[in-house]
Amino acid sequence: MQLPKTYSHKDVETKWYAYWMSHGLFAPADRPGPSFSMVIPPPNVTGSLHMGHALNNTLQDILCRYKRMDGYRVLWVPGTDHAGIATQNVVERQLAQKKVSRAALGRKKFVETVWNWKREAGDTILHQLKALGVSCDWSHERFTMDEGLSRAVREAFVRLWEDRLLYRAQRLINWCPRCKTALADIEVLHEEADGSLWHIRYPLADDSAQYLVVATTRPETMLGDTAVAVHPEDERYEKWIGKNIRLPISGRIVPVIADPYVDRAFGTGALKITPGHDFNDFEIGERFGLDKISIFDADARIDASAFLARGETGDWIARYRGKDRSEARKLIVAELEQQGFLEKTERHKLSMGYCYRCHTIIEPYLTPQWFVDIKPLAKPAMTVVQEGKIRIIPEAWSNSYFAWMENIKDWCVSRQIWWGHQIPAWYCVGCDRANLIEGADGEYWLGKDAKPIVARQAPSQCSSCGGSELIQDPDVLDTWFSSGLWPFSTLGWPEQTKDLKSFYPTSALVTGFDILFFWVARMIMMGLKFMSDVPFHDVYIHALVRDEQGQKMSKSKGNVVDPLDVMHQYGTDAFRFTLAAMAAMGRDIKLAADRIAGYQNFVNKLWNAARFVQMNTANLPTADFGRNALRERDLGFAERWIRSRLAFTIAEARAAIDAFRFNDYANILYQFTWHEFCDWYIEMSKLALSSADLVVAERSRKLLRAILDDILLLLHPVMPFVTEEIWQSLGSPRESIMVQPYPVSEESWPDAQIERQMTFLMDAVRAIRNLRTEMNCPPGKEVNVIFRGAAEDLRFLREQEPYFRSLARVSAAEFREGGERPKGAATAVIGTTEIYLPLEDLINLNEERARLSKEVGKIEDELARVQRKLGNADFIAKAKSDVVHREREKATQFEEKIRALRASLGKLQEIQAERN
Ligand SMILES: [Zn+2]
Ligand SMILES: [Zn+2]
Repeated sequence: MQLPKTYSHKDVETKWYAYWMSHGLFAPADRPGPSFSMVIPPPNVTGSLHMGHALNNTLQDILCRYKRMDGYRVLWVPGTDHAGIATQNVVERQLAQKKVSRAALGRKKFVETVWNWKREAGDTILHQLKALGVSCDWSHERFTMDEGLSRAVREAFVRLWEDRLLYRAQRLINWCPRCKTALADIEVLHEEADGSLWHIRYPLADDSAQYLVVATTRPETMLGDTAVAVHPEDERYEKWIGKNIRLPISGRIVPVIADPYVDRAFGTGALKITPGHDFNDFEIGERFGLDKISIFDADARIDASAFLARGETGDWIARYRGKDRSEARKLIVAELEQQGFLEKTERHKLSMGYCYRCHTIIEPYLTPQWFVDIKPLAKPAMTVVQEGKIRIIPEAWSNSYFAWMENIKDWCVSRQIWWGHQIPAWYCVGCDRANLIEGADGEYWLGKDAKPIVARQAPSQCSSCGGSELIQDPDVLDTWFSSGLWPFSTLGWPEQTKDLKSFYPTSALVTGFDILFFWVARMIMMGLKFMSDVPFHDVYIHALVRDEQGQKMSKSKGNVVDPLDVMHQYGTDAFRFTLAAMAAMGRDIKLAADRIAGYQNFVNKLWNAARFVQMNTANLPTADFGRNALRERDLGFAERWIRSRLAFTIAEARAAIDAFRFNDYANILYQFTWHEFCDWYIEMSKLALSSADLVVAERSRKLLRAILDDILLLLHPVMPFVTEEIWQSLGSPRESIMVQPYPVSEESWPDAQIERQMTFLMDAVRAIRNLRTEMNCPPGKEVNVIFRGAAEDLRFLREQEPYFRSLARVSAAEFREGGERPKGAATAVIGTTEIYLPLEDLINLNEERARLSKEVGKIEDELARVQRKLGNADFIAKAKSDVVHREREKATQFEEKIRALRASLGKLQEIQAERN
């Protein structure tokens, strides 16, 4: 099949992807051999392909395709994550457009709606990944909520419970009042914000004339204050310790306590203590046995029931009940001011926590939740990295990993949403009625002392009372709980499957740094716990894809580039090559259109080279290509050189990919293909192809094909489509390039002497070309050349004379070992060899002198104009600084140009004088 003149990526890409799928080439080979496995970082079902996915999956695909060609049985497991809160939010928003609320729909219907949505829209991202060319084994596709994975989640939960690594307790947790759920610490985004510091007078209970002043950033939570704390060594407050305060507004009596935690330098040094709504205060509350009053409901509105339950009274309760926390703040500040309790308000910068899903301000909230006792799991997870059983690449990320793992807190795994794995715990209505409160929606609210029955399957009856009325815990598990099991749950765990035996531990994980803790750390902990082995050996952390200016892509900035648009415009191979070429370890990618266009040119360059090879090798028998041709003993100079360079390229490419240096991989191949194969070898081969010596011509044709074959094989992992298209067009029907062995070089191929000689030849050709350009010699004009130097060098150059003729348009070459320097010639020196180009061959001397003089005059005029401008005080005063700067730069450029032209002119005159 003849390759068409131009490469059209659109048809080619869909054609070959379908071919690979229908031939089952993505599945692990059914033969013995070492295995290589990876699990995809499962994209959210709500997702659509963005640059981060494109980079992440391109790099994974490069590894998989390389390993597959290199003889491994490769399994790359694809799939998606149910993404609890994110997906629930998407469906809730859609319902809201139809004016339907989640509550009105009820749990069962709502979850059904999400499933329907998932079936319709949840595969979008997987289709987009296919367009990228990823070679995942789609028969292994998994979803974190499919049956098998749900079973794995229940199994893991129950085992953690049985091993006492899981507990249910009332704790202060991060609460999102919009999503109405608990969040883990790492799901809270901390950002600096402008706030205020209110100084409030807290009077003594038995003498309202005396007061101390507390400073707070959250005056509204004073309705939940149960103490005031000062530092035990703070002299200002010595006499207050042990006394009682009567809180403004609520009138509650609270003690003044002394705790060394108090920072004497912050505010006034006296702190209001609200154990129900502040993490530090909670700790102090624990130490002093203080009441923890939860003053808000789940929406962060003032909840009167807490006050009423304490027997508190007063019309303030009615005044504040139901008020949102920000409204409550305004009212409280106004009331304090009115009653003379507000001393002053200062501006204050503070760190605020926001929900990572909806950016609502987090409320520390007291609720019963499920926690994983994490320290016993974290310790071995640190050891495996310390001992090198898991390598984190680049290594710098290990430090972040250790820092985080050392300070890890118990993992809150329950979420108060509906979409996710419902917690496999049940409560007996008969035994536990006091702790189970049935809500209006039929859902139970479980008190902090409710007694869970944890089981793999719903129990049919209570083991203590025999009752059959059991309700399941309404909470679902944190999304990261199931993704933490991903490397083994996707292989069939808890079943001891063949896949699990063959492919666990997986070989490598490729991911972004943003989920190092959310996900990578959890997989390590869970893998060690449940599989007693690491989940992967290498973790490669790649950087971010930014815009051309290096800014983060974001919708609000409007600088988001859609990978699908790029693939459509430039072709997927050019796009993938760009990502790989720019994926330098630890450095963000600044994605620029001209870089992608540049690599599209590279694809075209390869295409044209292939066309040249195809035209010249059309009727060679297939058996003569490849390794056989390369192993030939009797090769010409150019052939031995390109084979030596190929050996170098293969070795470098393998080393680069094995070390996750994707950019080096791409750049080595670019260099070899374009600047060695196309620029030199193809040009040199033309001579041999047209040789009257048929053996020489034949040898050259075989080598062209053999080298091109290896180039295609080396490039295939990065540019799968165009390489397959060329591969299939070159031979009579052959097997996919995907399953060909990855190139290996042979010991006899590298040839240092040939490489040195070729460098000499290339330098000489370049020198002649440069002299021609310098002297403005017309490209088509043939010139004579005189080489002067050592006998040995001259002998080599004489052998290569045909190459000079074709590569540098030399009509005749003369070789002089010594004697006089030729006069009237342009000269260059390569090592100890001098090169002379007689001038009259190059140009008409008088014409050239006239041309140069005219050019100098023209530029001098322009320079004068710029200098006049710069000499004008008025211009300097009025023009913008960058305009002035540009004019100055112009002047410098003109000056340089004039200097260069004068130098050429001088050289001409010199040469002419020498001749006369
Ligand atoms: Zn939220
Ligand atoms: Zn019971």
